Amino acid sequence: MPVALFDLDNTLLDREAAFAAWARRFCDDWALPDGAHAVLVTADDDGYRPRDELFTEVHDRFDLDVPVDDLLEAYHVDYPACFSFPDASRAALRRLRSAGWKVAVVTNGPAFQERKLEVTGLGAEVDAVCVSAAVGSWKPDAGIFVEAARRCGAELEGWMVGDSGPADIRGGQGVGLRTIWSTRGRTWDLDDPRPDAEAADVPAAVRIILGEVLPG
Ligand SMILES: [Mg+2]
Repeated sequence: MPVALFDLDNTLLDREAAFAAWARRFCDDWALPDGAHAVLVTADDDGYRPRDELFTEVHDRFDLDVPVDDLLEAYHVDYPACFSFPDASRAALRRLRSAGWKVAVVTNGPAFQERKLEVTGLGAEVDAVCVSAAVGSWKPDAGIFVEAARRCGAELEGWMVGDSGPADIRGGQGVGLRTIWSTRGRTWDLDDPRPDAEAADVPAAVRIILGEVLPG
């Protein structure tokens, strides 16, 4: 039984849109000045900025009258609620599993990532979830991919789909998986070996995995 492993942020779920939506609400709630939304999006660094650093900056810059910890606590409730899982992606994953594929989420991040799967219902659409902080292994290391296949009760053969060249594509290649790069409108410009295929969204990636379209 083959596996189809998917990255979470900006692959299965549109993290960019979710963060932007959260930031709009935060700006409204705090009546922040024009330009604050762009400041938040830049400070977020596509999710790579540690959250305590992000909120310390936001707190100081906009002179917010609550402790940073309170901002963090609210973020952990409000931000996951901004995620949604598109119906077309849900249908595509169901088609993949109906065809005999085991599907797993492989994501780098804190245990908090699980909240996004709960809120969107995505958790019910996959066979396994591996969050790096819980597994103790981070993409591109082999361990997290091995664990994902183990949790699926499957061999580690099949595909890895993700938007990060260094984490998803290099990691997938390192354990012998074929790879699909989730483009997000970008062009591959890394020195690493190219992915086997590129896809604009989850349904497109699934069509490639099922052999309905040629990789390209
Ligand atoms: Mg990602």
